[in-house]
Amino acid sequence: MTTFADTMEQLDLAEVDARIAAATEQDVARALARERRTIEDLAALLSPAAAPHLEQMARRAAALTEQRFGRVIQLYAPLYLSNECVNKCTYCGFSHELPITRRTLSVDEVLRDARILHDEGFRHLLLVSGEDRRHVGMAYLIDVVRALGTLFESIAIEIQPLREEEYRRLVEAGVDGIALYQELYDAERYNLYHVAGPKRHYRNRLLAIEAAARAGMRSLGIGTLLGLGHWRREAWCLGLHARHLMRHFWQSRLAVSFPRIRACAGDYTPDLPVTDPEFVQMLCAMRLFLPDAELVLSTREPAHLRDGLLGIGVTRMSAGSRTDPGGYTAADHAGEQFEIEDGRSPAEIARLIEARGFEPVWKDFDRAFVAPGPP
Ligand code: SF4
Repeated sequence: MTTFADTMEQLDLAEVDARIAAATEQDVARALARERRTIEDLAALLSPAAAPHLEQMARRAAALTEQRFGRVIQLYAPLYLSNECVNKCTYCGFSHELPITRRTLSVDEVLRDARILHDEGFRHLLLVSGEDRRHVGMAYLIDVVRALGTLFESIAIEIQPLREEEYRRLVEAGVDGIALYQELYDAERYNLYHVAGPKRHYRNRLLAIEAAARAGMRSLGIGTLLGLGHWRREAWCLGLHARHLMRHFWQSRLAVSFPRIRACAGDYTPDLPVTDPEFVQMLCAMRLFLPDAELVLSTREPAHLRDGLLGIGVTRMSAGSRTDPGGYTAADHAGEQFEIEDGRSPAEIARLIEARGFEPVWKDFDRAFVAPGPP
């Protein structure tokens, strides 16, 4: 099987830019009219020529989302295990050289935060950490997942890339999903921001999600971090990556994210900021190209935008998030990864979802679905 890392090595990004720039309004109209859209259609929908058709794109995206997913929004919460990190990423508050208070939660501390999230109603948990195997290694992860036991119906991880057999051990322990964002598909620009540590290895990072899929992860999350690269090009590559994974690992569900960079320790400001209308165009284009993928919107985005995007294409949202280890029980949030924009509580977000005619879903998966049956 050709890996997506092989595909990216052969891809000419200047040619991708040229395809997007050359798209006409006729190309956009053709893309909008199609039942199943091609990668050429995605280029048209991401192009400047599509900007005047944003309203039409949003209507089609909303209809398609309702047809495939119904009127539901799944809620999840991140739980930060550790802000230790061996990498130097210039945009991140956990970057190795920053003088923040470093901390890794004990298993008991993880349980304390987890119980708060459980009491708030969450049944989908995302365990997040910086990348440092000395603090967040396999034994620790397995202890954490076992201790969480049956509190949550779904446990996903967003941690350093692992080997296939390590992913397999985590699946056996009870992890069913992974989020591993490439951050930037443009390999040259990738090197500008990932200046030291194992994350510099662009290809290794790209290969890891396929290892996780082979190991049996039921949910695969990919994403690009907006603000680092040229967004149209990044979005096109993200779409191509999504389609690759959906074709080769059709047993897993795909979730796609495109978080925008927020303020953090180190005061990084994005080199290539993405405006709200550009963000909406990207979200609509992604829904039209990937009718069956989950589209994820985190609390990185401001409340007004999250409210406006409800129903257009998003199917999964975080709520009430903290981005520091122990953040749900701590009095101060000194060691956070970035500042969240939407600080409303999970209950407020659930009420808003209901008020907009959608159902907030705290659980759409049951471990019993994948538990081994009687011999
Ligand atoms: S982005 Fe991830 S790998 Fe990079 S410094 Fe932050 S936590 Fe570490």
